[in-house]
Amino acid sequence: MSQDRLTAFEAVNRYFEDAARLIDLDERMYSVLTTTYREISVQIPVEMDDGELIVVRGYRVHHNGARGPYKGGIRYHPTADLEEVRALASLMTWKTALVDVPFGGAKGGIEVDPTGMSEGELQRMTRRFVNGINHVIGIYRDIPAPDVNTSAQTMAWMMDAYSARHGYSPAIVTGKPLGLGGAPGREAATGRGVIYVLEAYAEQHGFALEGLRVAVQGFGNVGSWAAIEAAERGCVVVAVSDRFGGVRHEGGLDVAALDAVVRAGGAVGDTDQPGVEQITNEELLATPCDVLVPAALGEVIDADNAHVVQADVVLEAANYPVTPGGDKLLCDRGVAVIPDVLANAGGVTGSYFEWSQNIQQFSWKEDRFNTELRDRMRTAFVATAAAAAELDCTLRQAAFAIGIRRVAEASRLRGYV
Ligand code: NAD
Repeated sequence: MSQDRLTAFEAVNRYFEDAARLIDLDERMYSVLTTTYREISVQIPVEMDDGELIVVRGYRVHHNGARGPYKGGIRYHPTADLEEVRALASLMTWKTALVDVPFGGAKGGIEVDPTGMSEGELQRMTRRFVNGINHVIGIYRDIPAPDVNTSAQTMAWMMDAYSARHGYSPAIVTGKPLGLGGAPGREAATGRGVIYVLEAYAEQHGFALEGLRVAVQGFGNVGSWAAIEAAERGCVVVAVSDRFGGVRHEGGLDVAALDAVVRAGGAVGDTDQPGVEQITNEELLATPCDVLVPAALGEVIDADNAHVVQADVVLEAANYPVTPGGDKLLCDRGVAVIPDVLANAGGVTGSYFEWSQNIQQFSWKEDRFNTELRDRMRTAFVATAAAAAELDCTLRQAAFAIGIRRVAEASRLRGYV
């Protein structure tokens, strides 16, 4: 629970209600769209390498499936309880609708700290989880993907465990390794999409990316690719961090070198780049910069610390990094927030490309993937900016309003309400 005293799901529903009021949503829709459709909670016994047995809990939540099969990542994290997974599933409903891909919203998680677990332990845990949820997933039913502490390798194990029961099914998960039906471009898609949205925002506001000072919290899949793409466009990446802490350099960090350190199993703080200052994650949020990119966990900016943010723009690469209390303070201070459902939607858009290719048994070149991704992210940004002008509201309210309208329409047509 955030210091705003709302659970994550209550907070996402607060964002939902803010936008729903603006569009005069039919009252009867509220109870359908603020609750989840289906929730699975499974026991996962895992035999550790030393023979000890641990029992962890796994969840898969289906929020709304009016627009298509459920879609959303799987995270392995100690905070991934049912309430957090519900919140993340509902965000997927609004996000998939906003970027207009034919999916509903879902999320999954195992409430476990996977750091220090061996490959064998992770694989056994993942296979057990798939056994527990295999009856509610399917290539036209629910398609998982990677999220925090899960990877292409995790997806490969999931695909294999599912295929062992149901026959060869590459389309059952996205974010797979290239050798197993993964799509060139998918690994980078979320972080790249974040920067496509920043490009569109910068164009609309008449500033260049060249020389823009960017700070990125989290240097996993999303944060590292966002930092790399930003640096490639001439941004000065002044600070990055991971769960151990961060590094800062006013003149700009060598992002490619940091990526090499992390891919070799190190932390960003292990870098030997000259002139680099070691900082904490709290200091990263307070770093003087133009654009702050939270790309790690949720609820990192709230009513208690929003005042430390010095950026003009907060670009939400992570899911739910800003609580409603933090959002209000940022808004009052004139800090623009580009919301998660727009900023990080490149991930699910790329997953849609991968899933479609798997179903058609046809593969695209990476150029086509990136061109289509850029086009869809820009279209979603333009629609969001137009809705913000029409409704005289924030980008978050506008993005939710678009998503809600589409999901409400599909729910009504299907006869849910
Ligand atoms: P990841 O596991 O690859 O990376 C997470 C990063 O955050 C790591 O660098 C980790 O060290 C860092 N981190 C963990 N705890 C931290 C803390 N307390 N303080 C600072 N840093 C911390 O995960 P990811 O896939 O990059 O996901 C990051 C965020 O992006 C999540 O909010 C996720 O839901 C969201 N997201 C991911 C995708 C995707 O395609 N992977 C798509 C959309 C949204």
